[in-house]
Amino acid sequence: MYNPQQVKELQTATLKWLNNKNISVNEVEELRNILRFHENRYYVMNDPLVSDFEYDSLYKQLEKFEQEDAAIITRDSPTQRVGGGLIKDFPKTQHLVPMLSLENSYNANDLVDWDRKARELSKLDTIEYCAEPKFDGASISVIYENDQLLRGVTRGDGETGDDITANIKQVRSLPLSAAFSKYGIEQIEIRGEVLMNKSNFKKYNDLIMEEGLPPLANPRNAAAGSLRIKDSKEVGRRNLEAFLYHVSYHTTTDNRQPTTDKRKQAPQNSNDRTDIEGLKNQQPATSNQPLTHSGMLEMLWNLGFRSPKKEMKVVKGIEAIIKYVEEFETKRDELPYEIDGMVIKVNDLDLQDRLGMTSHHPRWAIAYKFKARQASSKLLGVEFQVGRTGAVTPVAKIQPVQVGGVTVSSISVHNEEYIREKDLKLGDHILIERSGDVIPQIVKSLPELRDGNEKTIPFPTTCPVCNDTLYKPEDEAVWRCVNINCEAQVVERIIHFVSKDALDIRSFGEANVRKFYSLGLLKNVPGIYTLDFDALGKLEGFGQKSIDNLKAAIESSKTQPLHRIIYGLGIRYVGETTAKTLAQAVSNIFDFADYTLETLQQLEDVGVKVAGSIYEFFKNEDNLHMLQQLKSVGLELQSKKAAKREGNFNGQTFLFTGTLNQLKRSDAEEMVEQNGGKIMSGVSSKLNYLIVGDDAGSKLEKAKKIPAIHIISEDEFLKMITT
Ligand SMILES: [Zn+2]
Repeated sequence: MYNPQQVKELQTATLKWLNNKNISVNEVEELRNILRFHENRYYVMNDPLVSDFEYDSLYKQLEKFEQEDAAIITRDSPTQRVGGGLIKDFPKTQHLVPMLSLENSYNANDLVDWDRKARELSKLDTIEYCAEPKFDGASISVIYENDQLLRGVTRGDGETGDDITANIKQVRSLPLSAAFSKYGIEQIEIRGEVLMNKSNFKKYNDLIMEEGLPPLANPRNAAAGSLRIKDSKEVGRRNLEAFLYHVSYHTTTDNRQPTTDKRKQAPQNSNDRTDIEGLKNQQPATSNQPLTHSGMLEMLWNLGFRSPKKEMKVVKGIEAIIKYVEEFETKRDELPYEIDGMVIKVNDLDLQDRLGMTSHHPRWAIAYKFKARQASSKLLGVEFQVGRTGAVTPVAKIQPVQVGGVTVSSISVHNEEYIREKDLKLGDHILIERSGDVIPQIVKSLPELRDGNEKTIPFPTTCPVCNDTLYKPEDEAVWRCVNINCEAQVVERIIHFVSKDALDIRSFGEANVRKFYSLGLLKNVPGIYTLDFDALGKLEGFGQKSIDNLKAAIESSKTQPLHRIIYGLGIRYVGETTAKTLAQAVSNIFDFADYTLETLQQLEDVGVKVAGSIYEFFKNEDNLHMLQQLKSVGLELQSKKAAKREGNFNGQTFLFTGTLNQLKRSDAEEMVEQNGGKIMSGVSSKLNYLIVGDDAGSKLEKAKKIPAIHIISEDEFLKMITT
């Protein structure tokens, strides 16, 4: 959307605003344009040119101007995304054009048939098609009027949906204003999909699971649920994204009366849940407006929307389409977001109009569905597992079934409430889903298939491992065994400690922990470091080579950084992120023994519950004793922070690229660290210095586009060291 000249100007203006605090309020619109530009770079292009910190400081400057004089606030100012207070309810709104469902196809033959019909009707030999991903999120329509975002609506029943305008404004890839007037468009309705990308979905699920809540089955549910939250600030925290992929309606500035005849043909309802397309544009296009679907997607992209411009492909004939969609399916898992198929549309808008629609679906578009990642199975039984924090988790044993290429035979069903909500009974037919790399989940039971022999799932009142009475705090969903010496918990704690994200002792693994424990060769976490290797050598299947590997892996785990050890302790609510925060806060792990609840809560993202859990852990003498033991066997319980070196590079970041002539790369990096600087792994706006050697490549090219990076030679770097 921005040409190189504009990018240069806006970046120059950015630096001006970042460096000069005395800019006049008259230039406030320039500041807004700068912020819009950086939102586009970050949320649409996925290629930010300023750091989060720099963006925030610009945003705060704008906020300050607007607070001083409310009269200067414009409706599309970047500050106006923030919703005021809680939303009471979402009023029903009619779509300008009904959101219809597309016909589904499941294989190449379906597509060939569909193409044949379209060619017969149009009397054409070949048709030009546009294929694009079928996003797996929540469908929306947005309306812009006189270049301003007017309204955002959920799909609802296709005719009417919920007005979610306040929440839709939290989707930062959606511009609050867009210059449709340049194209002679006055009012426009655009269809799209709101989604949560895989990485944000995983973070979100990790977060709710740390709180003891069941995770969501798929990013689609997460997106749909997020759009209906009544606190739009919370919606903002969910990091939703939107792809806009279809213009369903528009009026032009020269003719304000839209024709509505085609609406009568639209079905009132559709049971098909496939994504919806509206009817065709109802205005004859003037010379300004695109004449093809792909042209519309280009237009949206140029106006700052995230349209599938990069993902779409325009080709002639169905054979090329089939090749493209099959190719795309193989790359499905590499995408940062979930898709469940492709949508193929007749590219020429005039031909779309001529093809019209059947009683249910438009004839000019079809959905091509990828292989399902849902499958039905039967719930055979439920086992109860005791985790490292004593939580008793029901695990459903199901009739083994293939989902997305993996055989699934057991699925966590989290807790009693979850079982009740999903209405699960022993013997039930169930629908399961495996979404990308997310663990499989039960979507729902199918009560209509019951024959009366289904049984309620019994929940134990005592620990299935140690028989102690189970206990459930009032505000929690999970039953717990509170016997700290419960075998199951001890074993799970050791398994967690050696796991990949904790101490990463590779040759150990869950099976070995269980085996050694059951034989009395391993009793607790510190016991990992005092294993009797002679005794292990006598076990069946343990040759000298596996003993050597195990020894080496255990030995090298002693140098793991503090945050991995803290995570490995398995303190409740302390995930990897919190573990990192904690490791950075102290120079020695034993410092936490002196921390109060208040000091803990001053740490980033540590709330009351998390602080309470950490506090309890370090008040417990047994835990402190265990840490002493770990220290005495040689684990590094000091933070690297204690050894942090000081120098004139403090707070500065560096990256080397190309071949250095005078220094070895590792020596040069060591010099940076000795002077208090930090080595970055790649070029980003957080980088301060790029040191360029011979034959530098893409890193240099990328750095040239970011004015804030100082690009220097090896000589200049050496000069910095000596001065
Ligand atoms: Zn127990």
